[in-house]
Amino acid sequence: MDMKAARQLVLWLLVFAFVFFIVQAFQGFPVKTEVLPYSEFKRILADGGVERVVVRNDMIRGQYKDSQGVVKNFRTVPLPDSKLVENLETAHVKYEGEAERSWVTSLLFNFGWIVLIFGAWWFLIARQMQMGGRQALSFGRSRAKLANQKKQKVTFVDVAGTDEAKEELNEIIEFLKNPQKFQKLGGRIPKGVLLYGVPGCGKTLLAKAVAGEAGVPFYSTSGSEFVEMFVGVGAARVRDLFEQARKTPPAVVFVDELDAVGRYRFAGIGGGHDEREQTLNQLLVELDGFDTKEGIVLIAATNRPDVLDPALLRPGRFDRHVHVAAPDLRGREEILTVHSKKVKMAQGVELKTIAQRTPGFVGSDLANVVNEAALLAARRDKTEVGMGELEDAIDRVVAGPQRKSRLISEKEKKIIAYHEAGHTLVAKSLPNSDPVHKVTIVPRGPALGYTLQLPTEDRYLTTRSELVDRLAVLLGGRCAEEIIFGDITTGAQDDLSKATAYAQRMVTEFGMSEKLGPVTYKKKDEEVFLGRDLVRSHQYSDMTAERIDSEVLNLVESARARARQLLEKSRASLDLLATKLVEKEVLDSDEIDQLIRSAVSGMMPQPQQA
Ligand code: ADP
Ligand code: ZN
Repeated sequence: MDMKAARQLVLWLLVFAFVFFIVQAFQGFPVKTEVLPYSEFKRILADGGVERVVVRNDMIRGQYKDSQGVVKNFRTVPLPDSKLVENLETAHVKYEGEAERSWVTSLLFNFGWIVLIFGAWWFLIARQMQMGGRQALSFGRSRAKLANQKKQKVTFVDVAGTDEAKEELNEIIEFLKNPQKFQKLGGRIPKGVLLYGVPGCGKTLLAKAVAGEAGVPFYSTSGSEFVEMFVGVGAARVRDLFEQARKTPPAVVFVDELDAVGRYRFAGIGGGHDEREQTLNQLLVELDGFDTKEGIVLIAATNRPDVLDPALLRPGRFDRHVHVAAPDLRGREEILTVHSKKVKMAQGVELKTIAQRTPGFVGSDLANVVNEAALLAARRDKTEVGMGELEDAIDRVVAGPQRKSRLISEKEKKIIAYHEAGHTLVAKSLPNSDPVHKVTIVPRGPALGYTLQLPTEDRYLTTRSELVDRLAVLLGGRCAEEIIFGDITTGAQDDLSKATAYAQRMVTEFGMSEKLGPVTYKKKDEEVFLGRDLVRSHQYSDMTAERIDSEVLNLVESARARARQLLEKSRASLDLLATKLVEKEVLDSDEIDQLIRSAVSGMMPQPQQA
């Protein structure tokens, strides 16, 4: 039961207690009254025990003294008795008369409480009708929690190491701070922002911080809460969630685990899940229905953007996608700094060292490390958290459930560094490849590292030399592994499939192979898919197919030979790049250039300014 229901229950209890009290009051005090037979009354009267009476046509009440001399209240129903007054006079009893109650008053006295209860009941029903039938049943309510702004003021200061995501969210904050201003300017603000990234990287925290920075209420719920047993409940909850938010604009509505409801419809055997589909539809209706004028921004989080229904990602819905990256070395140090403020750290604790020991850890893992370290310190009767506790805490977190795979070992880190350095160096050495923007060994999705190349300008045509160079860059990673470790890993799988796909298209679509000539060779499945040429599944002979395969292999092989040659020639640069990558995890374009230059001239690089 939530707070609201509890409060209501207390209110009703009070009402009933009040009614009970009133009824008691009407029945008259004192409560303890003896009911005497009329004969008994007459006997006590004759004995002189009665002190005083109030006489009414239908009742006589009063006080008498019993044999022990204790004064008691009594009540009795009178019989027709013409001698009563006479008897009272003889016994010297103080007596008075009382007017009979009218039938209206007695009805009120007797049935008043029934009326009150009926009234209360009617009031309850009427109110529920007003609120709308769907809300009469409380399980239709959304469990959205309104996080109190005063109580919990998360801001960007609490979210470390996600500068790029913060930057992208700044615009949303500006809008939430002053929706009218944006309206006047006619700017279109995204209604829905999709945060995606691995679990625990701080998506929820970021969404809270957006609300905190803008100083607006934060309503949060989780997609998994929408998926309930009863069909229609999820949809009602979505409706309710938005209704709540609309009452306090501007506001942030946050839906965690969007993929729980937003999975691609019809995916899976046997059509869709009825309940989920209804919920998703309601979500879409709400998204389409609310106007950004209202000042409500919906932020959703998922770690599976790939399974989301495309309908959710259409313009006017979740059209802003923000990647929340796993933290790099510096980011990890910053996150540790944020969390270590909550505990007492010993002098001389090097958070940088801890950050270096935890490649692959995300924000929640690091928060866990600090927390575990504090627990360990307490168990060891220490007053401060020392380096020893932090180091042991890492092992504990690694050993914890599902975290095992996350920590990247030193050896793996070195292999990944050489692999990425290989891509980078080949890209830097070849004239026709896109400039390297950045290289990192921080995992992103399934990739353990990546080399980011960005073209200098928009391009609509790609030349053969550019494609050939691209193949060499793709194979550079695998070649570096071969040269340095004499062995190869599974890490190049994605590179190889990309390279193969490029080579295939070069041969079969772009007519870029000397041997096969400027001819396009359509693939089998395209024809079948179009449902036309079903008899002849492809337009070339099996012999041609073999030649295509061998030509693809040729292109890839010669790209590999080029990459290998390049890397062997500049081994010094490769080593230096890889070493620096292990150390810093991310290198930008300038740093890469500087490292290559210094390796070529045989000098050590200038110390970098932090
Ligand atoms: P997600 O929603 O991406 O699964 P959360 O935002 O729930 O991750 O993160 C869980 C916890 O991990 C947070 O409450 C916070 O303590 C910690 N955390 C995660 N990322 C960060 C970060 N970038 N900076 C500081 N703490 C973080
Ligand atoms: Zn690679």
